[in-house]
Amino acid sequence: MRFVHDTLPQRVRFASGAAEEGLAAEVAALGARRVMVIAGAAEREFADRVTAGLPVVHRHDDVVMHVPVEVALRARAAAAERDVDALVSVGGGSTTGLAKAVALTTGLPIVAVPTTYAGSEATAVWGLTEDSVKTTGTDPKVLPRAVVYDASLTLSLPVDLSVASGLNALAHCVDSMWAPRADPINQALAAEGVRALRTGLPLVVKDPQALDGREQTLYGAYLAAVAFASAGSGLHHKICHVLGGMFNLPHAQTHAVVLPHVLAFNAPFAPDAERRLAASFGSATAVEGLAMLRDRLGAPRSLRDLGMPRDGVAAVAEAVVAAAPAGNPRPVTLDAITDLVRNAWEAR
Ligand code: NAD
Repeated sequence: MRFVHDTLPQRVRFASGAAEEGLAAEVAALGARRVMVIAGAAEREFADRVTAGLPVVHRHDDVVMHVPVEVALRARAAAAERDVDALVSVGGGSTTGLAKAVALTTGLPIVAVPTTYAGSEATAVWGLTEDSVKTTGTDPKVLPRAVVYDASLTLSLPVDLSVASGLNALAHCVDSMWAPRADPINQALAAEGVRALRTGLPLVVKDPQALDGREQTLYGAYLAAVAFASAGSGLHHKICHVLGGMFNLPHAQTHAVVLPHVLAFNAPFAPDAERRLAASFGSATAVEGLAMLRDRLGAPRSLRDLGMPRDGVAAVAEAVVAAAPAGNPRPVTLDAITDLVRNAWEAR
């Protein structure tokens, strides 16, 4: 065995119903006195509740998916005008993403309170969109200093969004098995992430108001993000990045649709990953385990349903082949990726 593995420095608190006290402790540990709370309009209600005791000087609710540059500029200006000394984000990946955009240029510390299963809070990856092109990068400044997980804040996430967001997390796990910096540590995190997600998500669908399914899913989402942060983007993430950028498709749903196609494509060429994933799914093969889980969850099925035009398949395939990640277990040819994207479009 021979590998190099980076572990990101971050405190994680996990306690349902305890976001308010967890946040108070983390903001106090930073010595912050002028906090900016970032939370989108839909997340405002919990954000006001869990940040009630903090020294807040500004509440910022101008949050847009994929962080358009002008949205980031307004948030940075708001932080500068109020002489803010810490950022608290309460929301999904879009909200965490805006906090990261502010931290990127200001160096302000972030305490993140996630309310979806996107996992952005556990990575040092930022993203900004300008003229429909999304640029991403990695910078240690944007990694939240602390994450406060409170599964009760996810109880209001509608079931369809919970399923899509949870499958987005599952995609982080699966892609970590063969991403460019895959190693035994992030593969172990990913395998446990799959187990937690395949246990938690059916419970969320069965009873969205029960905490046990929400907790398993949130725990799995964190493991998934840590694995992904370390392993990097594999083929699945490259495909979804191209699709999201070209057609502005919804992020989590796109991952949910594309994942079974990438797993079926790579699995026969990655027997170790296939065996570990199958064991985590508790099924004979990984492909079968994912298919059974998706059936139980009523997962989204086609890129057509998400609004992608059929004549976009060729352009997507070309862009994916140009950005193919190093070391993908199966050769990434134009014909094969054209078939894969067409199958995902048709739900075949
Ligand atoms: P999102 O943050 O846009 O949230 C989706 C919707 O759910 C929004 O309308 C939001 O208001 C609502 N919502 C959030 N929490 C809720 C709750 N508890 N109850 C009810 N409604 C709630 O979507 P997302 O999938 O969480 O994040 C997607 C974004 O995150 C994308 O831009 C993606 O690129 C980014 N992302 C980044 C990383 C990274 O490492 N940088 C990782 C994953 C995702």
